[in-house]
Amino acid sequence: MTSRQIAFIDENNCIGCAICIDACPFDAIIGAQNFSHRINFNECPGCKICIKKCPTDCIKMIKINQNKNDILEKVKYNFSRKELRIKNTQKIYTESINNQLSKLSRN
Ligand code: SF4
Ligand code: SF4
Repeated sequence: MTSRQIAFIDENNCIGCAICIDACPFDAIIGAQNFSHRINFNECPGCKICIKKCPTDCIKMIKINQNKNDILEKVKYNFSRKELRIKNTQKIYTESINNQLSKLSRN
Protein backbone atom coordinates (compact mmCIF):
# COMPACT_ATOMS: atom_id res chain seq x y z
CA MET A 1 0.00 0.00 0.00
CA THR A 2 1.12 3.53 -0.81
CA SER A 3 -0.20 6.72 0.62
CA ARG A 4 -1.33 9.52 -1.67
CA GLN A 5 -3.19 12.81 -1.32
CA ILE A 6 -6.67 13.53 -2.61
CA ALA A 7 -9.05 16.44 -2.19
CA PHE A 8 -11.88 16.15 0.31
CA ILE A 9 -14.94 18.41 0.65
CA ASP A 10 -16.37 19.31 4.03
CA GLU A 11 -19.97 18.96 2.91
CA ASN A 12 -21.33 20.92 5.90
CA ASN A 13 -19.67 24.07 4.60
CA CYS A 14 -20.21 23.51 0.89
CA ILE A 15 -22.70 26.02 -0.54
CA GLY A 16 -23.11 24.17 -3.84
CA CYS A 17 -21.73 26.97 -6.01
CA ALA A 18 -20.22 24.40 -8.45
CA ILE A 19 -17.10 26.55 -9.00
CA CYS A 20 -14.92 23.57 -8.15
CA ILE A 21 -16.55 21.39 -10.82
CA ASP A 22 -15.56 23.85 -13.54
CA ALA A 23 -12.07 24.17 -12.07
CA CYS A 24 -11.29 20.45 -11.83
CA PRO A 25 -9.35 19.27 -14.90
CA PHE A 26 -10.02 15.62 -14.09
CA ASP A 27 -13.83 15.61 -13.67
CA ALA A 28 -13.30 14.33 -10.15
CA ILE A 29 -15.99 16.43 -8.47
CA ILE A 30 -19.61 15.39 -8.33
CA GLY A 31 -22.51 17.66 -7.47
CA ALA A 32 -25.34 19.87 -8.65
CA GLN A 33 -25.87 23.60 -8.23
CA ASN A 34 -27.09 24.45 -4.70
CA PHE A 35 -26.33 20.97 -3.34
CA SER A 36 -23.21 19.88 -1.49
CA HIS A 37 -20.47 18.42 -3.66
CA ARG A 38 -18.22 15.38 -3.30
CA ILE A 39 -14.89 14.21 -4.64
CA ASN A 40 -14.68 10.92 -6.47
CA PHE A 41 -11.36 9.86 -4.92
CA ASN A 42 -10.67 7.39 -7.72
CA GLU A 43 -10.63 10.23 -10.25
CA CYS A 44 -8.67 12.75 -8.14
CA PRO A 45 -4.89 12.76 -8.62
CA GLY A 46 -4.56 15.52 -5.99
CA CYS A 47 -3.61 18.46 -8.23
CA LYS A 48 -5.02 20.94 -5.62
CA ILE A 49 -6.44 23.30 -8.27
CA CYS A 50 -9.91 23.25 -6.68
CA ILE A 51 -8.70 24.30 -3.24
CA LYS A 52 -7.96 27.93 -4.08
CA LYS A 53 -11.17 28.27 -6.12
CA CYS A 54 -13.56 27.35 -3.30
CA PRO A 55 -15.18 30.49 -1.81
CA THR A 56 -15.89 28.82 1.54
CA ASP A 57 -12.50 27.08 1.95
CA CYS A 58 -14.23 23.76 2.46
CA ILE A 59 -11.85 21.67 0.33
CA LYS A 60 -8.77 20.22 1.95
CA MET A 61 -6.24 17.53 1.10
CA ILE A 62 -6.36 14.21 2.93
CA LYS A 63 -4.19 11.11 2.69
CA ILE A 64 -5.51 7.74 1.57
CA ASN A 65 -3.76 4.40 1.22
CA GLN A 66 -3.94 2.68 -2.12
CA ASN A 67 -2.21 -0.12 -3.99
CA LYS A 68 0.75 1.36 -5.94
CA ASN A 69 -0.20 -0.29 -9.26
CA ASP A 70 -3.78 0.95 -8.94
CA ILE A 71 -2.46 4.50 -8.51
CA LEU A 72 -0.19 4.26 -11.57
CA GLU A 73 -3.00 2.87 -13.72
CA LYS A 74 -5.39 5.54 -12.52
CA VAL A 75 -2.93 8.39 -13.17
CA LYS A 76 -2.25 7.07 -16.70
CA TYR A 77 -5.98 6.76 -17.33
CA ASN A 78 -6.72 10.25 -16.01
CA PHE A 79 -4.05 11.89 -18.17
CA SER A 80 -5.05 10.02 -21.33
CA ARG A 81 -8.69 10.99 -20.73
CA LYS A 82 -7.67 14.62 -20.25
CA GLU A 83 -5.71 14.60 -23.55
CA LEU A 84 -8.66 13.04 -25.35
CA ARG A 85 -10.98 15.71 -23.99
CA ILE A 86 -8.63 18.50 -25.19
CA LYS A 87 -8.46 16.89 -28.66
CA ASN A 88 -12.27 16.55 -28.82
CA THR A 89 -12.75 20.16 -27.72
CA GLN A 90 -10.34 21.36 -30.41
CA LYS A 91 -12.17 19.24 -33.00
CA ILE A 92 -15.55 20.75 -32.00
CA TYR A 93 -14.12 24.30 -32.18
CA THR A 94 -12.61 23.65 -35.60
CA GLU A 95 -15.87 22.19 -36.94
CA SER A 96 -17.84 25.11 -35.55
CA ILE A 97 -15.50 27.68 -37.12
CA ASN A 98 -15.54 25.83 -40.46
CA ASN A 99 -19.36 25.73 -40.40
CA GLN A 100 -19.56 29.44 -39.74
CA LEU A 101 -17.02 30.20 -42.49
CA SER A 102 -18.92 28.01 -44.94
CA LYS A 103 -22.23 29.79 -44.11
CA LEU A 104 -20.55 33.18 -44.57
CA SER A 105 -19.11 32.19 -47.95
CA ARG A 106 -22.63 31.15 -49.14
CA ASN A 107 -24.15 34.53 -48.22
S1 SF4 B 1 -7.39 18.15 -6.38
FE1 SF4 B 1 -7.42 18.47 -8.61
S2 SF4 B 1 -8.19 16.55 -9.45
FE2 SF4 B 1 -8.68 16.54 -7.25
S3 SF4 B 1 -10.74 17.35 -7.15
FE3 SF4 B 1 -9.36 19.09 -6.88
S4 SF4 B 1 -9.07 19.95 -8.95
FE4 SF4 B 1 -9.97 17.90 -9.17
S1 SF4 C 1 -16.33 25.47 -4.70
FE1 SF4 C 1 -16.50 24.88 -2.53
S2 SF4 C 1 -18.51 25.66 -1.90
FE2 SF4 C 1 -18.50 25.65 -4.13
S3 SF4 C 1 -19.42 23.65 -4.67
FE3 SF4 C 1 -17.18 23.37 -4.62
S4 SF4 C 1 -16.74 22.66 -2.56
FE4 SF4 C 1 -18.79 23.52 -2.51
